[in-house]
Amino acid sequence: MTKTYDVIVIGGGPAGSTVANLLSQKSVSVLLLEKDHFPRFHIGESLLPCDLPIFERLGVDPGAAGFLFKAGAEFLDERVGGRCLYEFSDALPGTPSHAYQVERAVFDHWLLERAKAVGVEVRTGERVIEAITPDRGGAPDEVLVRTTATHASERASVPDASYRARYVIDATGQDAVLGRRDKTTRMLEDFGLGAAFTHWEELSPEIDHELCVRDRGTIKVLFVDDGWCWAIPLGNRKISIGLVSRRRGIKPEWLEQTIAASPFLSRVTASGRQVRRPNVLASWSFHNKKQHGARWTCTGDSACFIDPVFSSGVSLGMVGAAHVADTLLEAFAKNDEARPDLMDAHALHMMHAYNTFATLVNSWYHTSLLHTLFFSPEPNLEWKRGLTSILAGDVWRDDNVFQAMLLSSKRRRKELVPELVSRAE
Ligand SMILES: Cc1cc2nc3c(=O)[nH]c(=O)nc-3n(C[C@H](O)[C@H](O)[C@H](O)COP(=O)(O)OP(=O)(O)OC[C@H]3O[C@@H](n4cnc5c(N)ncnc54)[C@H](O)[C@@H]3O)c2cc1C
Repeated sequence: MTKTYDVIVIGGGPAGSTVANLLSQKSVSVLLLEKDHFPRFHIGESLLPCDLPIFERLGVDPGAAGFLFKAGAEFLDERVGGRCLYEFSDALPGTPSHAYQVERAVFDHWLLERAKAVGVEVRTGERVIEAITPDRGGAPDEVLVRTTATHASERASVPDASYRARYVIDATGQDAVLGRRDKTTRMLEDFGLGAAFTHWEELSPEIDHELCVRDRGTIKVLFVDDGWCWAIPLGNRKISIGLVSRRRGIKPEWLEQTIAASPFLSRVTASGRQVRRPNVLASWSFHNKKQHGARWTCTGDSACFIDPVFSSGVSLGMVGAAHVADTLLEAFAKNDEARPDLMDAHALHMMHAYNTFATLVNSWYHTSLLHTLFFSPEPNLEWKRGLTSILAGDVWRDDNVFQAMLLSSKRRRKELVPELVSRAE
């Protein structure tokens, strides 16, 4: 007998946990299927202030849970002696004032446990292998989702299963199970092409104090040859350091070489112990051309993922997931959740954010706009405030002169992601 739910969420990352939690709080029955067992490592550790209101709605407090306060971002170009600080509290009026740095193994587990606490049924170690929706040959009034145990060792105790629901949400991140199956994902190759990253722990207490207390948990973003580097303090004498490169064929040793060439990174890492050899990831920016249909939608990275230089992934994922929950709750109340165009307005809402970040990232890689703004002795303060609001993820406002200037640069955007631009216009 196949059990039936209102909603099945595939994926238990920040986007999946957020949408599942918010639906369940409103008495919607939700099954969340996650292929891994938590806690598990995940990259993407620096959050933006725009998800502060979402934490409140989820019923969690990252500060009280011990995640590191993040006051802003510091940009460095050691090759020219450039250094500048963007604090979220200097943004346009109304932009939330701070964010958090999080170790994702802990953060994702924490959000998933919260989803369980508000009534979501969570099944981990189950990989979704098929989702049959009305527009993929399924029945008009339901979706059917099939799973198998992720680990061969568990197949005997966790048999293949099928679940039914009124609606399915793909929150599978870079796996983008629906998009990749339907071949609707399109790589965005104008950004960074690969990353190498790892953690250092047991930093000296002096360095930890400098990063977490004196510098108030800011992320450091360094301009380096062929790309950029992040340094994200995680608290408890840990730091995450990564390199994003525009060159193809990323290798772990590129990170080690970049650290050796940077006085700041050399000093910080010399005080601690490298946890493991760097992980590498390649070609991860993409856009999913078909993000929703009859009784299904994508949210988080499975809809779109833009190069992480401005740390937008988790926070846009959570804000978008909350918006999906609100749209779906309204539809359930009217019994019209089967409409294929149900998420049209949601997709446009998110497209505005993706456009803003994509255009900003394009400026980072292909123009001198940001470098000049960061390191000019007398920066345009109105632009700086506007850029700070964008860096906080506060991109849905109509009084940001810098954002308006950025988005009016159609030539740059069209070269970059023509589909994003044409859909938003
Ligand atoms: C190098 C790099 C650095 C980054 N740095 C930052 C940063 O500093 N700040 C930031 O905000 N973002 C950053 N990101 C982006 C961030 O990692 C993602 O945007 C974020 O994790 C997206 O959340 P999500 O919930 O959509 O997906 P995910 O967090 O990826 O969660 C998806 C979940 O779905 C599960 N899943 C996948 N397939 C299946 C399946 N078939 N069945 C069941 N479950 C499945 C996965 O196991 C996973 O747990 C970075 C990304 C990269 C590549």
